[in-house]
Amino acid sequence: MTAEGASDAAAGIVYLVGAGPGDPGLITARGRDLIASCDAIVHDALANPALYADTSAALHDVGKRGGSTDSARQGEINALLVRLAREGQRVVRLKGGDPFVFGRGSEEAQALAAAGIPFEVVPGVTAGIAAPAYAGIPVTHRGVATSVTFVTGHEDPGKGAPTVDWSALARAGGTLVLYMGVRSLGRIAPTLLEAGMAPDTPAAAVQWGTRADQRTLVATLSTLEQRVEESGLEAPVIFVIGGVVALRDEIAWLERRPLFGWRVLVTRAQTPRSSLAHALAEAGAEVVEAPATRIEPLDRGCVQGAIAHLDAYDWIIFTSQNGVELFWGALRDLGLDARSLAGLRVAAVGPATAASLLERGIAVDVTPERFVAEGVLEALARDDVAGTRVLYVAADGARDVLPNGLTEMGARVDVVPIYRSVPDGPGTETIRVFTREATERALAAFTSASAVRAFADAAGDGKGRVAAASIGPATTAAAREAGLTVCVEAKRSTIPSLVEAIVAYGVSRTNESGR
Ligand code: SAH
Repeated sequence: MTAEGASDAAAGIVYLVGAGPGDPGLITARGRDLIASCDAIVHDALANPALYADTSAALHDVGKRGGSTDSARQGEINALLVRLAREGQRVVRLKGGDPFVFGRGSEEAQALAAAGIPFEVVPGVTAGIAAPAYAGIPVTHRGVATSVTFVTGHEDPGKGAPTVDWSALARAGGTLVLYMGVRSLGRIAPTLLEAGMAPDTPAAAVQWGTRADQRTLVATLSTLEQRVEESGLEAPVIFVIGGVVALRDEIAWLERRPLFGWRVLVTRAQTPRSSLAHALAEAGAEVVEAPATRIEPLDRGCVQGAIAHLDAYDWIIFTSQNGVELFWGALRDLGLDARSLAGLRVAAVGPATAASLLERGIAVDVTPERFVAEGVLEALARDDVAGTRVLYVAADGARDVLPNGLTEMGARVDVVPIYRSVPDGPGTETIRVFTREATERALAAFTSASAVRAFADAAGDGKGRVAAASIGPATTAAAREAGLTVCVEAKRSTIPSLVEAIVAYGVSRTNESGR
């Protein structure tokens, strides 16, 4: 190796990072920073893909869930880590839960140590603590369990692996947390009973713990296997056996959120994590975000032409935050700012658009009571707009209710299209999968007519399978026209009002059918 090669090798390092149990919020700050700054990520199936969705690092998928035969062999994974580090890369080896808890992370560390590759271990929140916690089961509790044992039910079939002394565990009296596949239960539960553990010991199974689709089943040691079989629960599952399971009746919390068990599709132009998605997730829903459309700014010539003659107008109307943002971009490009609007009266179609203007130093003169074009018309009708000149900053293809109405009132309106919504490729696939898998607890939420149309195009024949939730009358009309069934409409056309309406609908449906 040349001297240059040696220094390259010195730059390479492997971080064995715990991804946490499933909820992407449960990764450590250190882990998140490393994902954002590394060159390559080598990940398992159990590490939530949301954690590396926005990274520019090279991705290497080496996992298949549940130890299926096509899992990349451990030796190959070790060799890959060594090779990438020798190339000088900063590698994150992302593993579900904690890397050193039944995850073979320690074997990877051994291989790296043997090869002389620098590495760091970033612990994670292990599923054996987090899945029970999200199900309302503490693994210890004063007076109930003063010890907890983490056990794997997948014992290494290879030579030399120590076997579990189940009868010692049965006598120990603390909580047992089992990391294993569903089938191993048929072997382990009888062994614990034979060793003298009481048949009525509370027992629980938690599938996909900490994710929005978490499922929990409670039984006793003697009935757990049958209950799991009947329910069709599949890996990944954490089993908890011990008196602490009974505390769930008092302290379950996730499942008590109003939208727990609901899947909601949020189709929205742009914005990575929209406020709608955030609020629905807080209410317990599993949110699937699909940017079915994205914003494409139009040529600035037209808007810049209007900006050059702003003093000729009496009013300027904005219909969306995107419109405000792009208009300001055009102003800035001309070396101008908010002062250019000094002589104008300003209207916004809704509070989010108004807030976006306020951020830029403009307090609107008119915010309608109803946040749709018709509402703006009603509000402006109260002012005398006859004979005024209006600049209307809009999306290409927006409805012409407003320009027509204003013209009828005697105003002269110039419409300046500033962007258009175009279909988004990856979002389309997400929508297809969502509609295909939709159950009766699925909803698609829409905040604009263009999002409805994009959804309908993407979903094709599947569009009728999902109930729609709409932000207001114009979006509802578009949804009905596109052949969707609208079950929810917000009272006021705002995101908080839409969330409120979805929660009310979810609660009433859940109460009807029982949980
Ligand atoms: N290192 C991981 C465990 C890997 S072993 C950790 O610390 O969590 C894989 C086993 O972990 C699975 O068979 C299952 O029993 C359990 N497991 C991992 N994630 C889980 C989750 N979100 N919900 C339930 N069980 C999970």
